[in-house]
Amino acid sequence: MKKHNFNAGPSILPRETVENTAKAILDLNNSGLSLMEISHRSKDFQAVMDEAEALFKELLHIPEGYSVLFLGGGASLEFCMVPYNFFEKKVAYLNTGTWANKAEKEAKGLAFGEVVEVASSKVDNYTYIPKGYSVPSDVDYFHITTNNTIYGTELHADPDVNVPMVADMSSDIFSRPIDISKYICIFGGAQKNLAPAGVTFVIVKNDALGKVSHYIPTMLDYHTHIEKGSMFNTPPVVPIYGALMTLRWLKAQGGVDEMQRRAKERADMLYSAIDGSRLFRGTVTCEADRSYMNICFVMKDEYKELESEFVTFATEHGMVGVKGHRSVGGFRASCYNALPKESVQALIDCMKEFENKH
Ligand SMILES: *Cc1c(COP(=O)(O)O)cnc(C)c1O
Repeated sequence: MKKHNFNAGPSILPRETVENTAKAILDLNNSGLSLMEISHRSKDFQAVMDEAEALFKELLHIPEGYSVLFLGGGASLEFCMVPYNFFEKKVAYLNTGTWANKAEKEAKGLAFGEVVEVASSKVDNYTYIPKGYSVPSDVDYFHITTNNTIYGTELHADPDVNVPMVADMSSDIFSRPIDISKYICIFGGAQKNLAPAGVTFVIVKNDALGKVSHYIPTMLDYHTHIEKGSMFNTPPVVPIYGALMTLRWLKAQGGVDEMQRRAKERADMLYSAIDGSRLFRGTVTCEADRSYMNICFVMKDEYKELESEFVTFATEHGMVGVKGHRSVGGFRASCYNALPKESVQALIDCMKEFENKH
């Protein structure tokens, strides 16, 4: 049976990414050697790194003066690298979910100065993104999480604030155009929208570095990695190769504008099926905040006892990964860039069939 991959991360990748990476693992560029067996300093791999960096900049229209890095450690390590590199006196965080909260915790723990939480939707289980907050004008940066993977809320545009921003874009990178100039740093684990797990992308504004007075451990210093072209130590070569395959695919498909069009189309299809259903309802309370990437829904209260039955039913119909995160419950359909709309239609058909049975 055909599988429809709604996994939250690691998650669906373009078929080309999987196939071409598999080929390179067997034999890279007819060299007779595996991608896994060559030096990261070889000409073949240097070419991979250079093209990945160039395509990243091209697809996101990254202006001059920014560096793109491919590192290890995941988005979770960036939660501490960001304060190490940019936090001198005062920073601000918007608490919109589990990952935002974890990022804020690292800044507080490092205690280089004052950490201001400008707003939080935690008391309402993160069912919306706070609005109407104000960001102090004297902060070193304002940290946001553009897509809240677990709760299914998303900032669909770059906020307007008068301070430099830092963003965790792990789960919505390349799904919409970004005004990079508003940010001094954008990072994310690659395993949601870009590559196999193991590589972290970081976009850094070069002249925002070098302004803190504390010591930065060498491996946590963005400067170290910029100077060595992401090869201060051995980079995760296989995931970086996978990222390059996805970047080529993105370009061939029409880039981020086309990804945004597809994301909106998929999300409109699924949200309207949820809203029109007798059994299901969405969990996000503010419609404007509904994520295009992670679509969260539950059974209405009077049908709550059907939840586990629906998970089984959906699984039997080829749906993979639709069970919601344990902190929200219900269901989550992650609809990343590579997900075809046919998969969304298959899920909708499956929901309708289930509804007809009850
Ligand atoms: C998955 C995720 C993370 C964690 O990423 P790791 O690479 O596993 O550390 C952080 N932030 C967001 C928004 C995520 O979706």
